[in-house]
Amino acid sequence: RAKADGRGTYRFFETGMDARAQARRLLEMDLRAALQRDEFEAYYQPIRDVASGRVVAFEALLRWNHPQRGLIAPISFIPVAEETGLIVQLGEFVLRSACADAATWPGDVDVAVNLSPVQFKNPNLIASVTEALTASGLDARRLELEITESVLLQNSEATLTTLHELRAMGVRISLDDFGTGYSSLSYLRSFPFDKIKIDRSFVSELATREDSMAIIRAVTGLGRSLGIVTTAEGVENDAQLELLRREGCTQAQGYLFSKPRPASDVAIMLERPRLRASA
Ligand code: C2E
Ligand code: MG
Ligand code: MG
Ligand code: MG
Repeated sequence: RAKADGRGTYRFFETGMDARAQARRLLEMDLRAALQRDEFEAYYQPIRDVASGRVVAFEALLRWNHPQRGLIAPISFIPVAEETGLIVQLGEFVLRSACADAATWPGDVDVAVNLSPVQFKNPNLIASVTEALTASGLDARRLELEITESVLLQNSEATLTTLHELRAMGVRISLDDFGTGYSSLSYLRSFPFDKIKIDRSFVSELATREDSMAIIRAVTGLGRSLGIVTTAEGVENDAQLELLRREGCTQAQGYLFSKPRPASDVAIMLERPRLRASA
């Protein structure tokens, strides 16, 4: 068929529609079909209070159960979902799933949901959050929304209004991947965040790099001074946890406790005590 369509074939090469663009277009079609076929699923990773060891929240992390390729992590499809706007529907799916699942958990366990900058350009964001809360019956105070500083980079006036509206509903706002962007400190002044999530890259180098240690110390100190909860991401071993405890980091999340797992495993993740006695 391609051969018969000589011009089309020629243009195909001429316009430089390279393998990557092709792959992206296929992925976009695949994503649309996957939404129809219900192939997405929210996984959950526990977040523990460092002092008590208690599970205080789960972060919802999107997974794609692909019929041929198996379980796909978000890095492989979120960028394309953002470029095509499909992230809005995907984001609504995660919000609904996370609120519905959390409504079945103990009342002192919260749920955190990641929001893409693209979702802030959509005028329906507040309505989507409201809808997810109403449909599930989840108390807004049990919902945390995680944003990165890139959200504040775009159209910050409208974004700040949206963030304040969400906050007024009782929802909490976390600053994700802290330390990886450009001018993180000024963002802390632009909006009163409830939580700072210290990026995994600082935690993974805690034991080997003194500057990472110094940065963690500075951020936890900053959190204390500002009355903001600090959560360390990517905690993989007891040595890291011990250093974080010593620095007074509030919460910890990482493979040390559990990888993200399906909603049906939440009960198990709540059960298993994973912190060593602090004494
Ligand atoms: P994030 O929000 O910073 O999520 C934390 C990521 O670190 C997750 O990767 C998690 O599995 C991983 N992680 C947690 N503990 C450890 C650890 O101890 N070691 C290592 N090596 N990794 C750990 P994941 O699930 O692949 O998600 C990657 C990113 O994709 C997320 O980073 C978030 O930015 C984005 N994402 C995930 N789900 C959603 C979603 O529903 N909506 C949006 N907009 N973005 C999402
Ligand atoms: Mg996150
Ligand atoms: Mg993060
Ligand atoms: Mg991240």
